[in-house]
Amino acid sequence: MTAAPDLEPLRGRPGVIRLHGHRGARGLMPENTLPGFAFALACGVEILECDVLFSREGTPVVTHNPRLSPDMTRDAEGGWVAAPGPLVRALSLEELRRFDAGGLRSGSAYAARWPDQAFLSGVPVPCLDELAALLARPGHGRVWLNLEIKSSPLHPEHGPPPPEQVAAVLAVLDDYGLAGRTLVQSFDWRVLAELRRQRPSIPRSFLSELSGEGATPEANIHDGSPWMAGLSLAAHGGSLPALVAAAGGQAWSPHFGDLTAEDLARARALGLIVNVWTVNRPQDIDRMIALGVDGIITDFPGRVQHRLKAQGMSWR
Ligand code: MG
Repeated sequence: MTAAPDLEPLRGRPGVIRLHGHRGARGLMPENTLPGFAFALACGVEILECDVLFSREGTPVVTHNPRLSPDMTRDAEGGWVAAPGPLVRALSLEELRRFDAGGLRSGSAYAARWPDQAFLSGVPVPCLDELAALLARPGHGRVWLNLEIKSSPLHPEHGPPPPEQVAAVLAVLDDYGLAGRTLVQSFDWRVLAELRRQRPSIPRSFLSELSGEGATPEANIHDGSPWMAGLSLAAHGGSLPALVAAAGGQAWSPHFGDLTAEDLARARALGLIVNVWTVNRPQDIDRMIALGVDGIITDFPGRVQHRLKAQGMSWR
C-alpha cells in the first residue's frame, strides 16, 4: 500500500492560491500539447491540468474531445480534418500521431475564442507518457499533474471501461514516479470510485457542473444523473461538498459560477480542497481570490499571477 502524498502543494493558505494551467495555457498556446505544457512550466505554473482519452490500443493520450476537432486538427498533408473528425478511441497510436494539433483553424468559432493562441505546426497529440516524462525531468520535481480522465457514462464507445482507464493511467504514473504528485479529476464519478478501489492513495477531485440555465449539456449534477456513480445529492441535504466528502474525495472542483461562500465554507470544514474551473476574466479571477478558493484553473496563467501579485499574494 502506497502512502498518501502530502496534499499541501494543492492547498491554499493565507497569501497563496494555487494556479492550475488549464490544458497547459490554452489562451496562449495550443491546448494539451507538449509545447503548451512546457510554456506553462516556463511561466512558473506548478500544477498542470490535462485531459486524457484513450487510443484504440487503450494507451492514454492527452487530448480533450472524443473526436479530433476539425477546428484544431490537421492531417499529415496539412489539410484540416473533415467534420465530425475521427474518434480518438478508433485510432491506433500510430494513426493518431500523424495528426497535427498545433494550431486553430482561422475563421472557426473556436479560433475566435482564442485569438491570442500561437499557431504551431508539427505538434502531435501527446501520449500521457510524454507529458509524464516532461514532469519527471530534473527541475520539475515540485510540479503536480491535475489529470482529468474524460470518460462519459453516456458514450461508452469513447473509451475503455473505467477499470481499464484507471489501470492504464496508473501504469504510466508508476513508470514515471508521478503517483505522489498527481491529482485525478473527472466529471464521471465512476472513474473516481474505480481509482479509489485500485489506488486509494492517489487524491481524487470531483468535477461538478450544476444543471440549469446556462449550463452546458454535460452538466453532471442532477437527480438520477449517470455521472454521479449512483450517489444522490438529496441524500446529503442537497450539499455537494457533503456528497464529495462522503464519496471519499479529497478535492471538489466546481464550475466557478456555481460556487457560493456557504459551500466553500462547508467544503473547508470537511477538509476538502476546492479548485474552480475555468476562470479567465480578471473580474472573475478577483472574485475567486476574494472568496479564498484553494486553486484557480485558468487558460491564462499570467492573468492569475498578476491578479494575485496585485494583492500581495502568490501561487506558490
Ligand atoms: Mg480538463
